[in-house]
Amino acid sequence: MFSRAALLFLGILGGACAALWAVEDKPFLFSPLAEPPEWRLLDPYQGTITRREFEQRVRRIFDPWGGLGKYLTTDDEGVRLFRDVAKTEPLFQLRWAGAEGSQEQGPAPLFFPDPEKPLQGQVICLDPGHIGGDWADIEERTFRIGQDRPVVEGELNLKTCRILAERLASAGAKVVWTHDGFSPTTALRPNDLYPEAIEYLLQDSNGRRAPRYSLNGLIRWNAELLFYRSAEIQARARRVNEELHPDFTICLHYNAAPWGGSGRPGLTTKSRVVLFSHGAYTASELVYDDQKFHLFRKLLENCTPEELDLGAAIGQQFQKKWGIAPENYEGSGYASASGASPYVWHRNLIANRLFRGPVIFVEGPYMNDRTTYGWIQAGEYEGTRNIGGRDRQNIFREYADRVADGVIERFRTHAARSTTFTNYSP
Ligand SMILES: [Zn+2]
Repeated sequence: MFSRAALLFLGILGGACAALWAVEDKPFLFSPLAEPPEWRLLDPYQGTITRREFEQRVRRIFDPWGGLGKYLTTDDEGVRLFRDVAKTEPLFQLRWAGAEGSQEQGPAPLFFPDPEKPLQGQVICLDPGHIGGDWADIEERTFRIGQDRPVVEGELNLKTCRILAERLASAGAKVVWTHDGFSPTTALRPNDLYPEAIEYLLQDSNGRRAPRYSLNGLIRWNAELLFYRSAEIQARARRVNEELHPDFTICLHYNAAPWGGSGRPGLTTKSRVVLFSHGAYTASELVYDDQKFHLFRKLLENCTPEELDLGAAIGQQFQKKWGIAPENYEGSGYASASGASPYVWHRNLIANRLFRGPVIFVEGPYMNDRTTYGWIQAGEYEGTRNIGGRDRQNIFREYADRVADGVIERFRTHAARSTTFTNYSP
């Protein structure tokens, strides 16, 4: 661990004085690199939600641990949100819908999907997780065992999404992408982010992972983290929100159990899957203005019902076809049970916070589970092979099919929610 003084000293040596001296000794108000919230974007939601509905969504979805209440003042007229717990700095005021439910959206119009093309009319955005390629090492999403082919999560995600895209398109969807290749979406690079990395370390060192790096190494590690997590996801979010305007987004990943030091990655014999719907803000996240803003925006967008429908339908495919168990985050402090399906949990991730509209975040099998690892090593073969005692198609095909079948099933069995999410982008 490094003291603030040591970091400050290093920051000065590093020539980042301007950024440092601009920092005052008060709580950090924004997540790293976050854009300042534009509260006026929430004004179209004035008078659209009742107090009861608001409080239910807060409790069930967005604030299961009760961290938000100390920033709110609620009465019969509406709710006021404050920056601080002393409630001296107001951020936003929301007026309730007049009478109980009077201005809330009515039921979605009846819509009978074409059985041949159940996804007709849907614009679906695919977000293959991570960047991969030359960036896989710094993303810490790659490992290699002996002389085997390296496992690079960004590449597995993209391969799976390409098959998924074909399935969705042949069911009638228009498929759009946050990125399709191994180049970053953001124009920033880690070298551009050293001042922010130092500032971030100074302001928010508590509870932050501090690998045993040299001081310089620690700053570089933070600059890389800001690059591939904050800057990259923010750039993808701008694409989703300003250009693509999808009906919903699928973020697709492969998961992993911790694989230890890069020198000696080990295999496990446990694999789980999970689907994340947005929500479950922690008290430490709610300190930040931008987190409060996104909580309000997501709550008012009301995308949760769609996320839960999609998540539950995909989870059912995982269960039926793979028999794979869901993750259990009970007591984790950062994810809460959705109640819709044991496979679906609420979690506040950068992508599902910043992307507008419904986002379903899919975490597939563990890349370092013994059976999954062998399945990945077998590559994109034709037909079936015996994998872990069962005849299976290649893992990319099977994972894509589970997700596609879930999405299609959701639109076959009930109407599209075309009216619940209105894109109020300026
Ligand atoms: Zn991932």
